[in-house]
Amino acid sequence: MPQCVLPWLTSWSIQRALAKRLPDPLRVLYVSTELYPALKTGGLADVNAALPKALLGLGVDIRLLLPAYPALLQAAAGLRPVAQLRSPFGDIEVRLLYGQIDSVPVYLIEAGNLYQRPDNPYVDGEGRDWPDNYLQFALLSWTAASFADGAIDDWRPDIVHGHDWHAGLAPAYLAARAGARPGSVFTVHNLAFQGAFPATIFNKLALPAGFFSMDGLEFYGNVNYMKSGLHFADRITTVSPMYSLEIQTPEQGFGMDGVLRARAGAVCGILNGVDYDLWNPQSDTTIAARYCAQDAAGKGECKHALRAEFGLASSGGPVFCVISRLTAQKGVDLVLDALPALLRRGGQMVLLGSGEPALEAQLRVAAARFRGAVGVRLGYDERLAHRILAGSDVIVVPSRFEPCGLTQLYGLAYGTLPLVHHVGGLADTVRDTTKERLAAGTATGFTFEGATLGGLREAAARAFALWSKPVLWEQVRRTAMSQQFGWAAPARHYRDLYQDLRPVAQ
Ligand code: ADP
Repeated sequence: MPQCVLPWLTSWSIQRALAKRLPDPLRVLYVSTELYPALKTGGLADVNAALPKALLGLGVDIRLLLPAYPALLQAAAGLRPVAQLRSPFGDIEVRLLYGQIDSVPVYLIEAGNLYQRPDNPYVDGEGRDWPDNYLQFALLSWTAASFADGAIDDWRPDIVHGHDWHAGLAPAYLAARAGARPGSVFTVHNLAFQGAFPATIFNKLALPAGFFSMDGLEFYGNVNYMKSGLHFADRITTVSPMYSLEIQTPEQGFGMDGVLRARAGAVCGILNGVDYDLWNPQSDTTIAARYCAQDAAGKGECKHALRAEFGLASSGGPVFCVISRLTAQKGVDLVLDALPALLRRGGQMVLLGSGEPALEAQLRVAAARFRGAVGVRLGYDERLAHRILAGSDVIVVPSRFEPCGLTQLYGLAYGTLPLVHHVGGLADTVRDTTKERLAAGTATGFTFEGATLGGLREAAARAFALWSKPVLWEQVRRTAMSQQFGWAAPARHYRDLYQDLRPVAQ
C-alpha cells in the first residue's frame, strides 16, 4: 500500500469524543430527511452522514431527527420508543423512536403510514411530488419544535438545526411557541427547491393566522416552506460562501433574493466537506488499486479497469467523467454538446447519471453513436461512482448554479482534475490552471466563466494542453490530491455558530 496520510476521523475517535463530552455540552437537534448510505438522493445525504459525526467529535451532543422511512428504520440499531405525541394534524399518532445509525444518535418519527415510502421520500415512481409532501414535512418540523420544552426523552436542545425546505417550518413552529425556545439555524442546500403549496393548506398547519403574510411564510400567495426557514430562523447558512452571496442577487435568488437581502446579517456560508473515511483512494476498497498523492501508480490500473468496464478503446488520451443528477441545473446538456470536440482531440468520456428522461435519452444516443469512446450508465450506483472517479483524469461539473457540489471535491481527492463552471461552491473549491498558478504550484483544475458551450470547450482545450505536458499534469494532480476539505473546519464553524446562538436560546 502507498505511504499516505490516514483518514482523520474514525468511528473510534467519535466514540472517544462521546465518552469525554463536556459537562454541559451544546445540545443540537439536527433535522433532515436523508442519510447516507441508507437513504440518499443527493449530496444532502452525504452531508447528513458526515457533519453530525464531526460535531460529535467536537463534543457537541447532536441528535438527528428524521422521518422513519423504511430504509432508515432498517439501518437503525437499538431503537426504543421514547415518546408518543398528539399531533395537530388530524388523527395521526406520532411515535418517536430513539437509537443509533452508524454510532450517531437518531430520533425516527413514526406516523401511521405517512412515512411508509420505500424509495424516494420526495417523489413517486413517475417523478411527481408526493401529494402529501406538505404534511410529511410539516409533521417533521412540528415534531422538531416539540422538543423545545424538554419533555421528550428528558432532552432539550439548545439549537434546532433544519436542513432545506423539508425542515423550513421548524423555525416557524418554534417562533409560534410561548416562552422559552431553542435557537434555530436553517441551512440552504439548494434554493431551487422551495416547497411551495397552495394557500389552502395553511389552515392545516396549526400555525398562528398572522404567519400567513409577507412578514411570514406567505410567498406570492402560496405557503412556502423555504421562505419560512429564511424568515423565521435565527441564523441562515448556505453550503458555500460564494453561494451565500449569489443567492442574494436576482439572477441566482430564485425569487428569494429580497427575502435573503433583508436578512443579510443573519446569513453566512460554510463550505461542505468530504468524508475522507469514504472518499480516499488510499483506503477505498471498491476501486481496482489504491493510490495517493505521492504514489499514483494505482490510478493507471483504475483507468485500465474503467476502460475495460465501459468497453473503451485503449488510448493515450484523458478520460473525462460526469457523475450527476440529470437535470438542467447540472449542465449535462453542455457536456453532450461538447462531446464531439472532446473526442476529436483524443478524449474519452464516461457518464453516470439518472434524472430527466430527455437527458437520459440523449446519453443513450451518445453512447450508441460513440461506441468505444463514450461509456454511459443510467441509474444510481454508489460503488460505480467510486470506480469512475478513480479511473478518470478529469471530472466535468458544468452546473448552471451549484450550492456547493461534492463531486468536484471527490475529484480533487482522487486526482481527477475538476473542470467546472466558476460558480457557487465550485468557484470556492477549484483553482484554475493559469500560468501564474502553475508556476506557484497552486493550480488544482480548470474553471470557466458562464455556463456556455464556448466556456466549456475553452477550459477543455486548456485541459488537453496540460495533458500534453505530463510533468505539469502530475504536478497539478498532486496539488489537487493534497487539498484538505475535511469536515473538521466546517464542523468547528457550525459549533461556533451554535455557541453564539446559545444565549438567544432561552
Ligand atoms: P446534488 O446534491 O445537487 O445532487 P452534489 O454534488 O452535492 O450534488 O452531490 C451529489 C452526490 O450524489 C455525490 O455524492 C455524487 O457522487 C452522487 N451521485 C450523483 N449522481 C449519482 C449516480 N447516478 N450514481 C451514484 N452517485 C451519484
